[in-house]
Amino acid sequence: MRLYTFERSYRLFEEATQYVPGGIYGPRTPHFLTFGSYPAFISRGEGCRIWDVDGNEYIDYMCSFGTNLLGLRHPKIEEAARRQQERGDCFTLPSDLWVPLAKRLVGTIEKMGWCVFGKNGSDVTSYAITVARAATGKKTILVARGAYHGSHFWCQTYGQGVPEEWKSHIHFFEYNDPEDLRRVVDEQRGDIAGAILTPHRHDVLRDQELPTESFVRTVNTLARKEGFLVVIDDIRCGFRLDMRGSAHFYGYDADLNCFGKAMANGYPIAAAMGRPELKSAAEQVFFTGTHFFSGVPFAATLATLDEIEASGAIERIRDLGTRLMEGLREAAAGQRVEVRLSGPPAMPFMTFADDQGFDKSRFFCGEAAKRGIFFHPHHNWFVCAALTEEDIARTLEVAEECFKLTRRQFGG
Ligand code: PMP
Repeated sequence: MRLYTFERSYRLFEEATQYVPGGIYGPRTPHFLTFGSYPAFISRGEGCRIWDVDGNEYIDYMCSFGTNLLGLRHPKIEEAARRQQERGDCFTLPSDLWVPLAKRLVGTIEKMGWCVFGKNGSDVTSYAITVARAATGKKTILVARGAYHGSHFWCQTYGQGVPEEWKSHIHFFEYNDPEDLRRVVDEQRGDIAGAILTPHRHDVLRDQELPTESFVRTVNTLARKEGFLVVIDDIRCGFRLDMRGSAHFYGYDADLNCFGKAMANGYPIAAAMGRPELKSAAEQVFFTGTHFFSGVPFAATLATLDEIEASGAIERIRDLGTRLMEGLREAAAGQRVEVRLSGPPAMPFMTFADDQGFDKSRFFCGEAAKRGIFFHPHHNWFVCAALTEEDIARTLEVAEECFKLTRRQFGG
């Protein structure tokens, strides 16, 4: 096959650097991929496919970093969004979908009695830790080292311009390590408002880790005993593993839950939810944003939740992901390349043995991108329900060739 080239993408990227600091900022920059082997800009998408500005077509395993669960331009979601669009989107007051969506979420997510709406994951993780502080009257938030909870000041790990004081009262522990959690609880005893956790460990640049039973038990027990709240950051996993929330899936006794990404299949909305007894604390917290109230994403969310349930999308992405993971394992073994597949099948990740600097990953993923398969060398992938068995078969064909090239480049 003719390998893809990216002339227009990189011309535009070069031009972007004149007008935008860094050209493209955050993890969407081509520098966070394999520079030169991936596009920089996408012109359209449909189902599980995207097309870049040079006209190259990809089967996309990043799903816009997790929003696209049902497939791009899903007819039922687009229809619901269009119907609301025809009535208007952003009003002076919330739309009449405010109550239906709040009721729907409260009826869906286990043990949650109320919810608030924002736009991005960062809005609601920041809100949730604020509610934890308001409810307990304490300041300290426990965070797993290396976990990503958004771009707000308290949880930024990169970049300049944020005074250290704005990140104070945050203390770290090692995910999946009950002893280390006990250590930080001992050290901070008396001032702990909450612990914020992703349902499983899905930090960039490492294999994913499912929580051990003993870790989950320790989180639940310590929280009850010490009187701090468990905040589950379900932004990335939410509605991919279990309709009732990933806290239920893994057994966390969550006091607060945060959702975003997949809940509206790509429309901008996020939600924080809490136990009924935290509602009066939530009422004391200031939270607003001009676009938090716009109606179209509410319509899209209602339709997305209905469609995930009606179509069995969670089981489907689990099955497709399992096929992908098993196929990759086999293809790698066939080429005598040692890889590790990690995470739940709905959001798998792959790393290579003896690849500290991720050079093999970058090479493999870059070669796959040039052949129409969009993986990510550093960040977990996402499986979407619009993929077909043929798409997986095509993906594995390309993967086999790229394993062969990786072996040739780096040895076994
Ligand atoms: N928490 C987690 C676990 C995330 O993956 C992300 C986004 N990658 C966020 C929070 C922040 O969400 P957003 O980028 O929508 O602000």
